[in-house]
Amino acid sequence: MKDNSNIGISINGVDHSVLCGICQAPVSIVGPSNCGSSTAGCVKCANIADLQEVLAMAIEFTREEEHLRLRQLAQGTGRRRKAMTVDGRTTHDQVFRFIVDLKV
Ligand SMILES: [Zn+2]
Repeated sequence: MKDNSNIGISINGVDHSVLCGICQAPVSIVGPSNCGSSTAGCVKCANIADLQEVLAMAIEFTREEEHLRLRQLAQGTGRRRKAMTVDGRTTHDQVFRFIVDLKV
């Protein structure tokens, strides 16, 4: 179910929902949107920020997630081929206030 007030970002031409980083619920515009500035977030968790900030954090999360996936792939290959090992973390080391549902 997609609500029109929910926030989404487009990644490689595909729309993804922005979710609350705490409870994974879709975030939406909070309160009346004044011209130019909107506030968005998760009311339940009081996880609310400026819409531009929410989008910036969601994009940052997406970028981080892509890096992690590449590392996970590389490390999976490294298990079979001893010569190729990749160092690096495969999990997020920071908590994102806003995340993106990357499942299509
Ligand atoms: Zn929440």
